[in-house]
Amino acid sequence: MVRAADEQTHKRGQDGGFVGAMLIWLLKHDYIDAALTSFVEGDGSSWKALPGLARTPEEVLASSGSRYTYSANTLAIRDAEKEGLKRIALVGMSCQSSALPIMWKRKAGKIGKPFLFNIGLLCSKTFDDAIFEELFLAKYGLKKEEMVKMNIKGVFQIWMRDGSYHEIDLKECHKWTREGCKMCPDFAAEHADISTGGIGEDNDWTLCVVRTELGEEVMTRMIKDGSIIARPAETDATAMKLLRLLSIVSRRRWPEFANKAVSVGVPPPKKKADGTLPAAH
Ligand SMILES: Cc1cc2nc3c(=O)[nH]c(=O)nc-3n(C[C@H](O)[C@H](O)[C@H](O)COP(=O)(O)OP(=O)(O)OC[C@H]3O[C@@H](n4cnc5c(N)ncnc54)[C@H](O)[C@@H]3O)c2cc1C
Repeated sequence: MVRAADEQTHKRGQDGGFVGAMLIWLLKHDYIDAALTSFVEGDGSSWKALPGLARTPEEVLASSGSRYTYSANTLAIRDAEKEGLKRIALVGMSCQSSALPIMWKRKAGKIGKPFLFNIGLLCSKTFDDAIFEELFLAKYGLKKEEMVKMNIKGVFQIWMRDGSYHEIDLKECHKWTREGCKMCPDFAAEHADISTGGIGEDNDWTLCVVRTELGEEVMTRMIKDGSIIARPAETDATAMKLLRLLSIVSRRRWPEFANKAVSVGVPPPKKKADGTLPAAH
């Protein structure tokens, strides 16, 4: 469990501000020229997520926080190319963080070369942009221009400019889940150097799964120089339980025709009282 030591980075972050802190650290220590992240269009009131380049700490912080609609961050590689930026970190949900190792493995060539860091976001799903008008506004009268923050913690949480707070049942939001997400077998961004998420008891810590030696090197150096504060994940039993549970739920979608090794050990879903399997698992 990690949080940014810098107050502003922590405050601007969705959870512990770890992703922002790591990108700023990588820029300052000359590991990268820029990161492919997600910004919000215009003054932010449209909540339209757009891929973009973060080349400075200010741009990193401008892109902090989570939007729960899709942002194809990998597309910003074209802008990096145009600007001659050659050392890149990618921030992306599990589907996006798989793109890099796939490019390397399948020898996609030049396009895969600039990527040096792969920062994953744990992810159960993204929603279609229409959810703002068709559910939040139509049913609850919540205008997107008035929203200041949103999060998903068992329910869809929305904070408004007037200080009010709203919770919307995730089952209601399901109709706006993007089709591809319903087939996703990877909750925990397993191809990333470090995977990050917000499950757990405290809202202001980022759960980090360090997966590669490179990820370990950066994490260790950041802890040592005081850029981040860390505590063992075992101190948050809820986070550990949810990480396992949600990873299993997604991995059960692993297709029958694909290499079975990837889903070895995934327990089958529990049967309902009438002996049938749950409809969506
Ligand atoms: C669509 C989505 C679904 C998620 N689902 C879960 C979940 O089910 N469980 C869970 O534990 N965590 C989930 N997360 C991760 C969580 O919301 C935080 O991103 C993570 O904990 C890191 O927090 P932080 O404070 O360290 O990051 P910050 O410092 O706030 O940095 C967040 C980074 O994510 C990027 N970003 C924001 N929105 C998007 C987007 N739509 N697409 C791509 N990149 C984006 C930002 O540009 C920024 O670089 C999800 C994130 C997203 C974007």
